[in-house]
Amino acid sequence: MTNIILLGPPGCGKGTQSKILVEEKGFLQISTGDLLRRTADTKTSFGNEINNIMKKGDLVPDNVVIKMILDEITNNYGKNFIFDGFPRNLNQAEKLDEAFLEKKIKIDFVVLLDVKLDILEQRIEKRIKEAGNENVRQDDNINTLTKRVETYKSVTMPLVQYYTNQNKLTKINGMDSIESISKKINTIITN
Ligand code: AMP
Repeated sequence: MTNIILLGPPGCGKGTQSKILVEEKGFLQISTGDLLRRTADTKTSFGNEINNIMKKGDLVPDNVVIKMILDEITNNYGKNFIFDGFPRNLNQAEKLDEAFLEKKIKIDFVVLLDVKLDILEQRIEKRIKEAGNENVRQDDNINTLTKRVETYKSVTMPLVQYYTNQNKLTKINGMDSIESISKKINTIITN
């Protein structure tokens, strides 16, 4: 079994690389963003609450996200996981470690996709244009992006040290081409 975490700021290409790993290597992508958007789409009062938090670019409370993740892990036990957008802070990382320890599985690799902020803005603008009016993500606008990047810097970036201490982290230039990043990820996970 191989379990990977893709780490990096919003718009760095975690989703794109996750999908390649799903298609080419049979991983199961666990994206907390996708799970939360599905919950938001239910339009229940809980869904609306989640939607409001996401629209602002804030993080959804840990207890909600951690429960979602633990359910996914339990329901898909035995598969190779790729975590996309989780963990987002130290508490989430510790809870994931605890859950994995209990299930006698482990995180094998943490890949950091390193991207500069101005490049991120260009990517998000492109994503907004390409999605058209109907499919655009409600949190894909420059104001929300700025908030999401600030959140990334203050609460997610400490995970770089956390996983470096565990000897699991490899940093990749997230500004390289999709193909080149994908090749580098393949090299990491096959070594
Ligand atoms: P993403 O699709 O990963 O960019 O996430 C979109 C939004 O979902 C984020 O801006 C947060 O509001 C929420 N979200 C996703 N993952 C998490 C997480 N691990 N913890 C808290 N909130 C999250």
